[in-house]
Amino acid sequence: MNMPLEDCESSLELCFRCSRCKWICDWDIKSAEFTYICPSLKKFLFDAYSAQGRMDIARAFLRGELDYSDKLLEIIYACTLCGGCEITCKRNQAKMEPLKVLHELRFKCVNDGKGPMEQHKKFAENIEKYHNPYGEPHEARFEWMPEGETDNEKAEVGLFIGCTIPYRLPNVARAAVGILKKLNIKFRVFQAEEFCCGGVLYRVGLVSKARELMEHNLRVIAGLGIKKLLFVCPGCYETFKSIYPKLGGTLKFEVQHMVEFLSQLVDSKKIKFNESCQQVTYHDPCHLGRLTGLYEQPRKILNAIPGLTLMEMERTMDNAWCCGAGGGVKAAFNDFALWSARERLEEAKTTGSRLLLTACPFCELNLKDAEVHDEYPEVKDILELVYETLKT
Ligand code: SF4
Ligand code: SF4
Repeated sequence: MNMPLEDCESSLELCFRCSRCKWICDWDIKSAEFTYICPSLKKFLFDAYSAQGRMDIARAFLRGELDYSDKLLEIIYACTLCGGCEITCKRNQAKMEPLKVLHELRFKCVNDGKGPMEQHKKFAENIEKYHNPYGEPHEARFEWMPEGETDNEKAEVGLFIGCTIPYRLPNVARAAVGILKKLNIKFRVFQAEEFCCGGVLYRVGLVSKARELMEHNLRVIAGLGIKKLLFVCPGCYETFKSIYPKLGGTLKFEVQHMVEFLSQLVDSKKIKFNESCQQVTYHDPCHLGRLTGLYEQPRKILNAIPGLTLMEMERTMDNAWCCGAGGGVKAAFNDFALWSARERLEEAKTTGSRLLLTACPFCELNLKDAEVHDEYPEVKDILELVYETLKT
């Protein structure tokens, strides 16, 4: 039988168990406290929980040497798919693709009728019924829209709002809309026609369900004359940009996360900010940084705000420590997600900043959930700061 894991054989053969995928590279280490890149390994402390260990699991599967067990399933899914291992491993061997192996392991679990975890099945059911993983009423998706706001049906710019922002962080949705209005950019939303992007389903291995959502969303957007689709959520952005093409989808429009869009306006000097005299630090969301390469753009925006000082954490940009929420971990292993977020908050605290900015609602929620004492900085989306400081 032709198993998809076989596609990864070259990575599995090339892996020489060097352990690079566990820590940031030695030349980037600034202190003994913040050396790990793999949250799964640091939390569970067994080699099986690293990319290296999961490569061994994949190899054993291919050789028919391993059977499923609850523990094995837990090891496969207790990984945030943060991509830290991909970065450090590729620095060693450019042809290696550990992240592809981690995804293929999950696809195999689902194909064999063993995965995903029960909690993932629950959010998949919610998506089926309500078009969002939270089980919130679909008709409430755009309740956050300011009174009197109407759609501009002729606009060539679309705004894909996602599930987490409207149902959990409506202030971020209002900030995104407020920015576009301050900039006089005509845009449209898709109201009841917008469904979950499906990224979360793909990441837990439910590929065919993710494809159905892709087909729906692309069908809705096609024919509306959209030339550019903006995203507030990096998870949705990465899904459209990287996952939809893997699922056979063709995008007939440009996709941009709001930070990329705004950084271009900073470049062309089309936007200006009021002074904001404060020291902040920035957490790179995995979906925006390692997985789609937007490292400079948020920093460009922050550096354009007069009076603002950006204090970088020790692990930053492609070395960033994952907040702990991705890859289905928040749903299935909440303690692990909170533990990872607390390590990030500790790291943010060492910068002396009272404000920790991010550009991902999933990171924001998990970091806020993990805040156990007031020594930790306040967590906020960069778009809220942009909205507050943007000159009209
Ligand atoms: S996955 Fe890459 S970094 Fe990790 S042990 Fe294998 S070759 Fe080394
Ligand atoms: S994706 Fe992240 S959590 Fe998963 S093995 Fe790689 S570094 Fe560890």
